Amino acid sequence: MLNVSGVSRSFGGVYAVRDVSLSVADGEVCGVIGPNGAGKSTLFNLITGHLAADHGRISFLGQRVDRLAPHRRARMGMSIVFQAARVFRGMTVEENVMVGAHGHTRAGFAAAALRLPRHQADEREIAAEAADALARVGLAEWADRPADLLPIGQQRALQLARALCARPRLLLLDEPASGLRAEERERLATLVEELRAAGLTILLIEHDVGFVTRLADRVVVLDLGRVIADGPPAEIRSDPAVLAAYLGQ
Ligand code: ADP
Ligand code: MG
Repeated sequence: MLNVSGVSRSFGGVYAVRDVSLSVADGEVCGVIGPNGAGKSTLFNLITGHLAADHGRISFLGQRVDRLAPHRRARMGMSIVFQAARVFRGMTVEENVMVGAHGHTRAGFAAAALRLPRHQADEREIAAEAADALARVGLAEWADRPADLLPIGQQRALQLARALCARPRLLLLDEPASGLRAEERERLATLVEELRAAGLTILLIEHDVGFVTRLADRVVVLDLGRVIADGPPAEIRSDPAVLAAYLGQ
């Protein structure tokens, strides 16, 4: 589904991501872990096109995408939930989620963001989809409230609902569990399992190694911008290079 090959990106001469290669198979949940500043978020932004790579190739669904704008990659089926919550102010929770459906309707993103009238059938379908996505992330009762009044954990849940409304093939989640309470983390873990069962391919950045190794089929470990380990969770947990990166041994 996704192939990243020799991808690098530097900021002011310092590599954030350095010669990274990885592949993600259709239907796989792939965890991405590593210490703070390892390059995890940068890697996600390179995959989705929110940052341009200095070197390397990225293919998605068999097509080279590393020169495509983010919205083109989104239309092909990539959806990202950023590490920092991003909600549209002045819109309700439900309206925020409905914006996510822009990629597969006639009217498109601009019309959704401007709240222009849309085709009625589209409108009904999107509203139903939004309600379903909000229920899945536990935000059903917040639908009519202003999005910017949500606590930070719920803002991230809202982004996830919006991402699901875009009907992705590949979902990239950047530390979706951070700032969540225990029961919210459990809900998120269950949702990831449901989405995997429904055939979605997921890339999941997570700080809590226990959380990610429980959900992931495979874990990629980054340190100082490089891949230092890539394998099944059980192998990763006992990998000496991983232990050294985390524990400074
Ligand atoms: P992680 O998500 O693993 O914590 P990041 O990808 O956010 O790491 O950052 C990797 C490195 O790149 C860090 O040293 C960070 O300071 C640097 N970096 C990330 N984004 C930028 C940017 N826009 N400008 C300058 N440096 C950046
Ligand atoms: Mg990050």
